[in-house]
Amino acid sequence: MGIVRLVVLGVLFYIAWLLLKGIMGAAKKSTEERREKKGATSAKVEDVLVEDPVCHTLVPKSQSIRLRKDGKTYYFCSDTCCDKFLETPREKE
Ligand SMILES: [Zn+2]
Repeated sequence: MGIVRLVVLGVLFYIAWLLLKGIMGAAKKSTEERREKKGATSAKVEDVLVEDPVCHTLVPKSQSIRLRKDGKTYYFCSDTCCDKFLETPREKE
């Protein structure tokens, strides 16, 4: 009788351990997936390239200098290009 009880207990502990291991593994996986998804979205935002109208360089939107003029938004690679753009006299229409 004693031995049978011990075996049953052992099997129960084994099943409990497997379940615990499975839950822990699933939790770890889901957090890793979330991290990957977050990283992918932030990388996409940085990947958007805009053209500098002065030197025609492609600049990541997040790192560019923005200028709103005549209802349009211009993006520049540096303050120098922004200043040049503002200094350049526009052709009279
Ligand atoms: Zn530039």
